[in-house]
Order: sequence, then C-alpha cells, then structure tokens
Amino acid sequence: MSAPEFFDEGDLVGVLTTQPLGRTLDYKAPEGGCHPGAFVEVPLGPRKVLGVVWGPGQGDFDYARVRSVIRVLDVAPMRAEMQTFLTRAADYTLTPLPAMLRLATRAPGLGDPPSMRKIYRRGMGTPDRATKARTQVLETLREYGDLSFTLKELAEMAGVTSSVIKGLVKQGVVHEEDSPRDLPFPRLDPDLPGKVLTEDQARGAAQLADAVRSGQYGTTLLRGVTGSGKTEVYLEAVAAALRAGRQALVLLPEIALTEQFLSRVQERFGTKPAEWHSGATMTERRRIWRMVGQGQAQLVIGARSALFLPYQNLGLIVVDEEHDTSYKQEDGVLYNARDMAVLRAAICDAQVVLASATPSLESWANAEAGKYRKLELTSRYGAAVMPKMGAIDMRAEGLPSDRWVSATLKKEVDQRLAKGEQAMLFINRRGYAPITLCRACGHQIGCDDCDARMVEHRFLKRLVCHQCGETKPMPTACPACDAEDRLAPVGPGVERLGEEARALWPDARIAVLSSDMYGSARALKAEIAGIADGSADIIIGTQLVAKGHNFPNLTLVGVIDADLGLMGSDLRAAERTFQLMRQVAGRAGRAEAPGAALLQTYQPEHAVIRAILAGDEEAFWAAEARERKQAGVPPYGRMAGIILSGPDVAQVFDAGNLLARQDAPLRQIGAQVFGPAPAPIARVRGRHRVRLLVKADKLVPLQDALARWVAQVKLKGELRLAVDIDPQSF
Ligand code: ADP
Ligand code: ZN
Repeated sequence: MSAPEFFDEGDLVGVLTTQPLGRTLDYKAPEGGCHPGAFVEVPLGPRKVLGVVWGPGQGDFDYARVRSVIRVLDVAPMRAEMQTFLTRAADYTLTPLPAMLRLATRAPGLGDPPSMRKIYRRGMGTPDRATKARTQVLETLREYGDLSFTLKELAEMAGVTSSVIKGLVKQGVVHEEDSPRDLPFPRLDPDLPGKVLTEDQARGAAQLADAVRSGQYGTTLLRGVTGSGKTEVYLEAVAAALRAGRQALVLLPEIALTEQFLSRVQERFGTKPAEWHSGATMTERRRIWRMVGQGQAQLVIGARSALFLPYQNLGLIVVDEEHDTSYKQEDGVLYNARDMAVLRAAICDAQVVLASATPSLESWANAEAGKYRKLELTSRYGAAVMPKMGAIDMRAEGLPSDRWVSATLKKEVDQRLAKGEQAMLFINRRGYAPITLCRACGHQIGCDDCDARMVEHRFLKRLVCHQCGETKPMPTACPACDAEDRLAPVGPGVERLGEEARALWPDARIAVLSSDMYGSARALKAEIAGIADGSADIIIGTQLVAKGHNFPNLTLVGVIDADLGLMGSDLRAAERTFQLMRQVAGRAGRAEAPGAALLQTYQPEHAVIRAILAGDEEAFWAAEARERKQAGVPPYGRMAGIILSGPDVAQVFDAGNLLARQDAPLRQIGAQVFGPAPAPIARVRGRHRVRLLVKADKLVPLQDALARWVAQVKLKGELRLAVDIDPQSF
C-alpha cells in the first residue's frame, strides 16, 4: 500500500512527537487536511506538543474518541527521505525515534504562530507633533542605532503602547518590515573564476565534479597533507552541485568554522553561505532552517547538527577533518556525524567527500576495501613543503621537574624569532597544572562529583573538573589536612607553559590559546585571526590550534609532550597521537618559508613516534590495521558499549551483572560480552556509570540482537541505560 499524498479533514493520521512514548499516536487531520510529513501541534494530555505527521493512523482506538490535530505549522512538511533518514539513524544507533526527531526539530520557534512577524526600526520621516511618548520611541531607536525590534520589544523598551508606534509608522518615522529571518540568502555563483588549480588539484576536482553530476550516491576519501589544497578541490565539488541545482553541506569541526574559512567560500562564490553553528542566534537559526527547507539556502557550512536540517535537494556532503573526534556526539543521542553523513547521502542520492590529512582508520579501511573511492593530493601547494620532523630525546636533556622547554627546543625557537618568524609550542592540556598536590599530606584535590582530578586554572582563578565541568575557588588550605599554603601545582598545562615561555623569552609577544580563556568562540576566532596576521611571535596552544588554522608565518612547531597521548589503555591511542602530531606539525611552513616540527619525547623508539618522524602513513596504518584485525576490534569487528548509570553504585553494578548473564540474544549471533566495568568516565554529576562492551563479527546484524538483549533490563527508579554503537574508546 503506497502512502497517501494528502490527508483530508477527519482522516486518521499517525503523529510522531518528540515525547518519549514509543512510536506514533493517532489523531484526526484538522480542518483543511494536511500533507504527510506536516509539522503539527497536537494535544497530549493537558499539553500541546510538536509533532510530525508520520503516516496513516493505526486505527486501534474508537474513532469517536480520537482527538484532532490542533493546527498545521507554516513550514514545509518533512520530506519522506528525511523520515527514512531519521528512522534508519535511530535503528543504527538504537536511539528511540522521538529522540532522533528532536534533532530535526531543534530549530527554535517551530512552534511559533505561523503569522509573519514584523520588525521595526528608525525610518526617514519626522513626527508631525512631538509628544512625550513619541520622543521616547525616537530616543530608544537612536540609542540602538540600526537594530530592529518586534513591536512588543520596542513598546516595552520605550515604555509606550504599541498604538504609539503604529502611529509613527503611518508618518514614516518608524519603518515596518517583514522579519529578516525569512530574508533570502544571496545567490552563490559557481561560475566565478576560482583559483587556478594545479594539475593534481584539477584532476581531483574534475573527478569529484563528475561524481556529483552522476546524481548517484558515492563516497570519496580525499586525502592530502595540510596545505595541499583539499579545500580548493572540494569547493569545486560544491560548485558542481550548485550548477546541478542541488544543495551542498560542508561539515566542519566547530572550532574550524572561522571567518577565514567563510571568506574563502565568499571569494570562490561571491557571497557568504548559510552558517549553522552553536553561536548562531535563534532568529538566524530559524531563518536558515526555513531557507534550507525551501531549497533557497544553497550551501550550508556547519557543525554536525547541520546534518538534520530539512534539505530539499541535497547533492553533496563534505566532511572536512573527517577523523576529528568531535564528530562523535557524546551526549544525548550518541551518533557519529561522519557515519550519519554517509547514511544521509545514500538515502538522497548524494555524494560524500571525506577530507583529511590523517583519515580515521575506519575510513582508510573502507577505502582499501573499495567501498570508498580514493583521491589523493600528494604535494603541498606552491613552494610549501612538509615540515622536517625531528625528535628531542628528553632523557638526554636533564630538565628540572618544573620546566618543560628543553635547551634544544629553546635554541630552535630563538633562531626563528631572530628571523622574524613565528613559533608554536603545543601541549594538549588546558589549565595551569593537571594536579594540585598537598605537600604536607600528599592529598590530590579531586572533584566532589566524579572521579577526576580538579585542574587548576590560574586564568580563571579556579579549580575546574575537565570531566563534568564542576568548578570551585582555589583553596588556600588543603581540604584533607587543613595545612595552609602547602598546595602545589604538579605537571604542566598550557597556562604554566605560557609562564615558562614568558621567562625564557621576555621580549617576545606570546599568545596563549586555550578555549576556556576566551569569553566566546567569536573572541577566540578574532584572536586567531590576529595571530595569523602576525600579532604574536610565539603561539602556545592546546588541541584547538591544531585544527584547520592557517598561520602563514609559522615555521616551527615544538610539541612539548609527544608521549602524552600514548599513555593509558585506549586502543585508539596510537591513531589519535599519530593524527594529532601530524596535524600539529602541518601547521608549520604553509607558505614560502620551510617548516620544522620537533617532538619532545622520552621514548623516541616507540613505534608510533617512529612512524610520525618518518612521515610514513601507509606503514603506520598497515601496522595499526594488523593489530586491530588481530584483536577483532573496529574497523575489523563491531563493538557497542552499554552504559548503565544511577546514583547507587551497587544497584548499577547489579543491573550490569544481571545483563551480562542474560546474554542469550548475543550468543545466538556469536557476540561476546565484557564487563561490567567502570565506564571510561566512571562518575558524572553524582551518577555512577558502568559499561558493558559487546564485540561481534563485522558481518552479523548486531543491532537487532542488542535491542533484544538490553530490553531485558528493568529500568527501575533512577537507573538509566544508553547504547553507544561504535564507541570512541575501547
Ligand atoms: P588543505 O585544505 O589541504 O589544508 P587548502 O585548500 O587550505 O589546503 O590550501 C592551503 C593554502 O594554499 C590556502 O591558503 C590556499 O588558498 C592555497 N592554495 C591551494 N591551492 C591553491 C591554488 N591552486 N591557487 C592558489 N592558492 C592555492
Ligand atoms: Zn567532576
């Protein structure tokens, strides 16, 4: 039976809401009827909630008692392909469909009345007669310059009734117009002359453009060292999509979404694209949501949630820095935006480009297996060459325990400064010191809410838990033994490294970049743009400087602790370290001046460090692939994490142990269960978390068995269960 094209008034429709209630509820279509996919407001008990007309109703209840849809919202109905996407994504991640729907209805204001809002600002005319109320309106408008207000806002701010404002509109003193949230985006022009591509780049661009023109699904892994022109190449794929009249989406890790990047897009297409990110205003989000739905926003640049916008005709998804761990959402719905991009594209016959200098092992393996096309840019653009890599053997440096810059590294930095070039010192640790130790009793200050240590942040003058975000003022006395003034910082963080650098180079301009030191993403981006223009001699930063920024005058990167990521038991540690080090090193020498990267390490003979130094990616991946194959872990086996959490640790473990014993559904498919063990984050905000890991052969249908298995847990009281398909750490 094919789905109906329209529901007439009184027809039974099945509405999916974002409330956690299983699947759909039956309602009667409202006066005027509705389309399948329509966004509607429905009664639910005493409340009104947002929902989507998912299909025909079930008809399980007495028709007379079924309630009616209250109203249909004035937005385009959800397309069938979006419904398919949400359903499959929910199935894949074992997320309840309503939670998935929430990701697609997050644009605020979806529930607003459909009537268009008007906004008001200063007009050209002068009032025929100056009353006190009128003067107040004019003064308010003068005070706020060019800003526009809704009628209610303006009336409230000026302290007048709306009829005063309406009167001024008639005289042209106040200008009334439609809210800009629905102002169209300027057209992008794919036919502007782009940069002249190198032969290598042009070949890649043509290949991607062909793929986009095919109008079929396909994924390409675009590999190339930092600075090889991947961005230039995929922008040509975007151009091809625009020429074909299809929409394009470029996903970036949030922090890489910079003005610098947007200007490049503007340069190529003549105007800025729609920008979807966490800092966007409500009004802007709603405007983008609508414009994307009308097919009017041709190109969206966004963070991972941009995948859930209501594209009308999506032809291309680029996932830049596809290996980036921030694509995995670790809160709420656990999904990996890279994998969801591939799913989305397959449903709407679009192309995917996964771009990276250091792809994830998953994508590398998919390309090796022929599931993804491979496209490689082998050299850096122009004169720029890959930086020379070297190790500094810290065992030979004899540094005191409260210093981190070796004499060798200091000398190298000196040389760059003398030439007027920039140097970067990289350490992947926020704050001042990772440990605060009491010298009297040996106590280390920990978080009250979870098991992590508190990290001292001098900049904020507080202790911060990097796990749960809890903060408290830095105490003067030890919380364990009350000794005064015996608390000492142990180990380096980015702030402490900054202090050391200021002592070593008192005359240099030093910028310390860490996400927590800026009030907003915008302030941070402004600082980064300033640095690119030469406002600092030495840049000291955490992971965030490793991502996608272009510092043309930077010629040396010193990695303070290359061993840091190799500690711990995470099986992905080697991959992470390899990627991060390559990426950081890639910051150096992007323009004409050749670059170098120096790794301070206590284990220069470690296989990962050696592979990084040799720059031999293929060798590294081949070795890493062998190990993972042997262990039967992703991408050569499938894994899922089951996290049980609750306030009572015994109850959580009991539930975990019981589940581990009831493993019949898993044994049927040959999957194994490990645990329960304390989860990687064992306690968050007072809740204890245990994890069971499930390992299965790559080809078995894991989700079905998992769903049947976890359904056996009785979620009593505060006990919660979350399924994490393809966990990041295992
Ligand atoms: P990637 O994305 O691989 O790191 P980019 O596309 O950012 O590389 O290119 C690195 C730098 O080189 C950028 O400043 C870019 O504008 C420049 N560039 C790359 N290719 C060209 C080209 N064909 N013509 C002019 N400039 C180029
Ligand atoms: Zn904590």
